[in-house]
Amino acid sequence: MIPGAFEYVRPGTVEEAVAALVEHGDDAKLIAGGHSLLPLMKLRLAMPAVLVDISRIPDLSYVRVEGDEVAIGAGTRHFELEKDDVARAEVPILPYAASQVGDPQVRHRGTLGGTVAHSDPASDLPTALLALGGSVVVQGPGGRRSIPMTEFWLGFYETALAEDEVVVEVRVPRTGSAGWAYEKFTRRANDWPIVAVAAVEGRVALANMAGAVVRATATEEALARGASIAEAAGLADEGTSPSSDMHADPEYRRHLARLLTRRALEKASGAGAAAA
Ligand SMILES: Cc1cc2nc3c(=O)[nH]c(=O)nc-3n(C[C@H](O)[C@H](O)[C@H](O)COP(=O)(O)OP(=O)(O)OC[C@H]3O[C@@H](n4cnc5c(N)ncnc54)[C@H](O)[C@@H]3O)c2cc1C
Repeated sequence: MIPGAFEYVRPGTVEEAVAALVEHGDDAKLIAGGHSLLPLMKLRLAMPAVLVDISRIPDLSYVRVEGDEVAIGAGTRHFELEKDDVARAEVPILPYAASQVGDPQVRHRGTLGGTVAHSDPASDLPTALLALGGSVVVQGPGGRRSIPMTEFWLGFYETALAEDEVVVEVRVPRTGSAGWAYEKFTRRANDWPIVAVAAVEGRVALANMAGAVVRATATEEALARGASIAEAAGLADEGTSPSSDMHADPEYRRHLARLLTRRALEKASGAGAAAA
């Protein structure tokens, strides 16, 4: 399919990108890697009149330690995150989750800001980010603000981002050598997860178990009161609302959530990083 006609602008700074969003309002859409937006445009499920290409804004791609946190620029591509030495040492679940996204072509084009802003409930990096906690830094006409990770993803393709805001950075706590695990279940290599589970330091997040990525709060509460891994993992699907599609019905997804959570918690409590 061929997308509808659109005007194309390429701002040189985040301020110019924000100005373009303010000027064109509803008609405008940011494009970064294009690996989620372009497929929607080809299906004509998205028909922006103006594409604001932020992929060449300098200084949006970085991974650096800032105090207790790791700051990652929104323009960082999945492949760059996967290979980054600072990320591997300071927050290893993220490069691993990045390595699980699609195929090399997708990982070389897709960006962290794009996958965060897109809010697909099956996306790998947002699941790992939600388990880590931290915040999403966004910039709009009034400057920058920080949105806690737990308040960012609201539903299917829906976030706390305003129409005239750009995701500029993600900040996560440094976890270093703390136990972690990312368990992704697919039918074929390179697929999106049917269900995925991220576990780090007693926090657990699930992909594809609701309209957006979600925390497995019943599991987390059980762990906090000293329940066994088996007992806590058995609660992983509590409060979720998995959908039905050609890959799995809700009951199967619930089963996978419990099973993968148990595996993830076992790995995270032992040699999780090494096993991954
Ligand atoms: C074949 C294929 C397989 C894939 N497999 C997986 C997979 O297994 N797991 C997975 O998690 N993902 C997968 N993806 C999606 C991939 O991770 C995308 O790269 C990602 O979801 C979007 O990043 P992008 O930079 O390409 O965003 P774009 O497509 O450019 O944009 C996506 C949306 O985010 C908005 N946006 C982009 N950047 C910003 C920003 N900085 N601030 C605010 N809004 C912004 C855009 O306006 C648009 O609405 C796959 C994609 C393809 C095509």
